[in-house]
Amino acid sequence: MKKSREPLSSTPLLRIADSAVHGLGAYAARDMPAETFLGLYEGRRYTAEQVAAKDWNNQLTYLFTLSNGETIDGAKGGNGTRHLNHSCAPNCEAVEEYDDAGRLLLRFQTLVAVDAGDELFIDYCLTADDGSPPSDYPCLCGSPDCRGTMLAPADTPADTPADAATESPFKPA
Ligand SMILES: [Zn+2]
Repeated sequence: MKKSREPLSSTPLLRIADSAVHGLGAYAARDMPAETFLGLYEGRRYTAEQVAAKDWNNQLTYLFTLSNGETIDGAKGGNGTRHLNHSCAPNCEAVEEYDDAGRLLLRFQTLVAVDAGDELFIDYCLTADDGSPPSDYPCLCGSPDCRGTMLAPADTPADTPADAATESPFKPA
């Protein structure tokens, strides 16, 4: 079977293949240092109100909610970044960033150096708005630090960026 649908943007640093953890996964196409840009998380965007009004059934797999309340559905027009699986000990991260038009983007990048062929993971840090127990989102990442769930750790506020971008305050003399 051929996949005919073209993604909005290509992610040449990612190879999509069966995952050892869950469904399809994303693998490093080559050796990469830390903080290598992998691609933007793309797809159809929904406001918080639209997300609440929609009946998602089992289509939650590729939803990514941003800090401004918008949700990106990578199942519709998404690229290779949607195939990164969750790990409690991830080698990649998703970083929010505003573009020049004031639109909130989600950059995927490596957190540490990876080797070609490594499966790539981020920490989903899900929040269950409906109060579902952590056991509803079991984690099978198998890392020694696995917390057993894909939900965010309760003791770490998910909305506190530890490394907020600090640009040097360059001022013309
Ligand atoms: Zn885990």
